[in-house]
Amino acid sequence: MKSKRSITINNNLVQGICNCSCITCNINKPSYTGPKANQSEKVVEKIVERVQEACLEGLYIRAIGNSGDGEPTLHPEFSQRMAIFGELKRKWNFSGYPSPDICIVTNGLRLYKPDIVEALEKNNISVKISFPTADPIHYTEIMQPLCGEKGENIFKELIPAIGHIMSLRAQNKIPGLEFHISPPFLDYVRPDFPQTINVLSTLANKNGLRVLNLKIFPVLSNRTGLVKRFLNNFDMYKDYFKRYNGKIINGVVINMFYSYDFFYPNFRDFVDLLRAFNFPCLWYGNIYLSSFGDSDCPNDQNIQEPLGNLFTHSLREIMEIKEERLPGAICKSCNQTPAKLFGLGLLKTFHLTADLKLRWKLLRAKEKVK
Ligand code: SF4
Repeated sequence: MKSKRSITINNNLVQGICNCSCITCNINKPSYTGPKANQSEKVVEKIVERVQEACLEGLYIRAIGNSGDGEPTLHPEFSQRMAIFGELKRKWNFSGYPSPDICIVTNGLRLYKPDIVEALEKNNISVKISFPTADPIHYTEIMQPLCGEKGENIFKELIPAIGHIMSLRAQNKIPGLEFHISPPFLDYVRPDFPQTINVLSTLANKNGLRVLNLKIFPVLSNRTGLVKRFLNNFDMYKDYFKRYNGKIINGVVINMFYSYDFFYPNFRDFVDLLRAFNFPCLWYGNIYLSSFGDSDCPNDQNIQEPLGNLFTHSLREIMEIKEERLPGAICKSCNQTPAKLFGLGLLKTFHLTADLKLRWKLLRAKEKVK
C-alpha cells in the first residue's frame, strides 16, 4: 500500500432505508434502485476484526462513521450493533494508536427515543446531526420527513431531543457532537445560517454545552454525485467564517470547519492522495462499506463496481485496489471528479493536480493497450 495516511471508514449500517427523502438524495425516490438492507451482526463483527487486523499491519483507522445511504438509527437492532462497536473501544489494546472514534451520522428524528440514546451513551458513540437550517419550513422542504409532519410540528420533538444530546455531550457522556450544515443552498441554508447559529447556540447554552461544532459542506458532498439537480454552486462560507468562527454567541464558542477536514485533516493528506492514487478522487482515499461488507464508492449506490469485500479482503488490500483503480463507468456521470470539483485556493490546486495526474495515468493506460 502506497498511502501512509490514517483513514476513515464510512459504514452503511442501513442501506436504502430512511425516514426522510432529502432533496439531495435518491433514497425513497423512484430513481433509487439500490438494495434495502439492515447490516447483519456478522458484517459488523467483520468490520471490527478487520480494523484490529489493520492496526497490527500498521494501518491506522482513525474513525468509523455509521452513515451513508440511510438513517442508522432505523436499524431494528441498533443497540446490539452499537454494542459491538462499544466493545471494540472498551477492549482496545493497541498501544501505538488510540481507538477509532465511532460515530453515527443521523437526521436526529429518532433521537427522542430513550433506547437509541442509551445505546450511544453506553457505547461511547459520537453523534453528528444533519441540520441544514433552523427555519422549520425550510428544514422540512430540504429533509422531507416521511412522517408527513411539517414545519414547527417536526421541531417539537427534534429540538428537545437535540437539546438532550447536547446535555449528554456537556457532561462528557458521549465523546463528540457536531452539526452538519448542508447542502450549500443559496436560497435556504446560506441565508438561514445566522438563525441556525442563534437557535443551536441558545439550545447549547441552555443545556450546558460550551462549544458548538458546525461542519460546513462547501459543495454537494459524497453520495450525491449522481443526483442531477440544480446544485452546482460552491460556497466556502468565507463571510460567515469571519463573522462567527471562534466567536462567542449566546455564551457558546462557535467552532466551524469544512466537511473534508474529517477525511483529510492535514494538507499532507491531500499530498498523500495525489501521490498514492492513480485516480485522486477525494472519495477514493477512504473506505466506504455497503451493508454487505463491499467496499464501494459512496456514489455507487447499486454496488455495481465493488472494490473488494471485507469477507475476502483486508482493509489494506481494499486500499491497494483503490490506489490502482482508474475511473469506473459510474465516474463518467459523476459530478465529484477532480475535473468538475475545482473549489478555491489550495483545494483548487489539489483538483487541478489530481486532474492532471488522472489524464497522465489514462494516457499511459491507453499506450499500454496499444
Ligand atoms: S468520481 Fe467516481 S470515484 Fe469519485 S465519487 Fe464520483 S463515482 Fe465515485
